[in-house]
Amino acid sequence: MHNDQLTPGIEAGRLSADQIAENFADLHPPLNDHEALVAADRCYFCYDAPCTLACPTSIDVPLFVRQIATGTPEAAARTIFDQNILGGMCARVCPTETLCEEACVRETAEGEPVQIARLQRYATDRLMDAQPYTRAAETGRKVAVVGAGPAGLACAHRLAMKGHDVVVYDAKPKGGGLNEYGIAAYKAPDDFAQAELDWLLKIGGIRVEYGRKLGDDLTLASLQKGFDVVFLGMGLAGVNKLALDGAHPGVENAVDWIARMRQSPDKTDVPVGRNVVVIGGGMTAVDAAVQSKLLGAETVTMAYRRDRAAMAASEYEQDLAASKGVHILYNAAPKALGAGAITLARTKTSNGALVETGEEIELAADQVLLAVGQTLAGAPEILALDGGKIAVTGPGRTSVAGIWAGGDCASGGEDLTVTAVAEGRDAAEDIHAHLMGEA
Ligand SMILES: Cc1cc2nc3c(=O)[nH]c(=O)nc-3n(C[C@H](O)[C@H](O)[C@H](O)COP(=O)(O)OP(=O)(O)OC[C@H]3O[C@@H](n4cnc5c(N)ncnc54)[C@H](O)[C@@H]3O)c2cc1C
Ligand code: SF4
Repeated sequence: MHNDQLTPGIEAGRLSADQIAENFADLHPPLNDHEALVAADRCYFCYDAPCTLACPTSIDVPLFVRQIATGTPEAAARTIFDQNILGGMCARVCPTETLCEEACVRETAEGEPVQIARLQRYATDRLMDAQPYTRAAETGRKVAVVGAGPAGLACAHRLAMKGHDVVVYDAKPKGGGLNEYGIAAYKAPDDFAQAELDWLLKIGGIRVEYGRKLGDDLTLASLQKGFDVVFLGMGLAGVNKLALDGAHPGVENAVDWIARMRQSPDKTDVPVGRNVVVIGGGMTAVDAAVQSKLLGAETVTMAYRRDRAAMAASEYEQDLAASKGVHILYNAAPKALGAGAITLARTKTSNGALVETGEEIELAADQVLLAVGQTLAGAPEILALDGGKIAVTGPGRTSVAGIWAGGDCASGGEDLTVTAVAEGRDAAEDIHAHLMGEA
């Protein structure tokens, strides 16, 4: 049977394969040589550059942009990778509108920043064939890394560079963490997460074991016994629950739905509702909503219980969602589920508290995707927690000697790819100093 946007229920194949391929094409296609030179020429090469200060991995942005401007993009790539070994992925996924490009003086003066991320991609793409780093002499020290996401991979690569042996354990069948299972498909097309992972591992000294979950047959005690140090980069594998009256067969967690969608090579087999309602106001909600629309849902509504200013998704992301045809409903809290519908209560802020106004809206909903936050799951009980995450001080030291943590699972820092990379890298430097008896 042929499906289209009006087919009732939750169905795959609402759009043709060609239309889906077009919808999921690169959000920001790569710059060509001429475009890169023109973009690089706009940089003022500021002293004490605000873009570098705003980058969680402190990439020397003016230096790499100058290296592009002077025709040495490979040197620019080295400048980037020295600070951020996942500089290729970060160039594609960083919310630069709240990081380096927001801080750019040309953004302040003209409302148009230097295109730092696209220049970063231009440079890093030129060094993706061969791994540019080699290992130091072997130290004989062994480190276990739990999680092959951005934090774990950045930590493993830096430790391997220093000459330590690293074994990475990941619960999933593939590495990359949310780069592989979470990031919107149109931000990192062409299987870039796996290509980057393969490239990173070419340094040697890192063995990855997939399908190994800490908490199952793999215990912290066994890792402590078998390795000099353990680094935990296990992200946030749990999700918040949302208690709603009624029942609805099409309710699913947005992170799970996105993960399944990401694993489909051409996306023509991914079922999506005719009418989709996404609950939440963060990056995950935007990604679920936009990708539902790109798969051919007739209507997609994002319902967020607070107002626009309180939304975690940036203005850029909200505009992106609107440009793809997603309707964003502010001050609308989910209340009850029914057959093919959801009831939302209108809200307002009164004396600092969120209250219901008494007005309700009912929306047709074949599919309801919940994007109401992720939580730490499976962290070893002996570790102290802080705000629901593993408590760390300085560069990732946990409450237990010999165990470091970084990325989304650890306290402090925003839940972003680039922050996870910075924390994994910094923990590796601290672990190295510890292993060599310097700290
Ligand atoms: C839908 C979505 C979209 C996002 N989009 C963006 C974006 O556009 N830009 C951006 O900067 N950030 C984005 N983020 C956030 C970003 O993906 C994360 O901040 C980043 O991936 C965190 O890296 P991490 O290494 O700490 O954790 P993760 O990427 O979550 O990796 C953790 C790894 O640990 C493994 N693991 C978990 N538990 C265990 C266990 N018990 N044993 C063994 N292995 C385990 C997991 O399988 C996973 O591979 C997004 C997040 C989501 C959910
Ligand atoms: S890593 Fe991200 S924040 Fe840092 S300079 Fe590159 S694009 Fe900007």
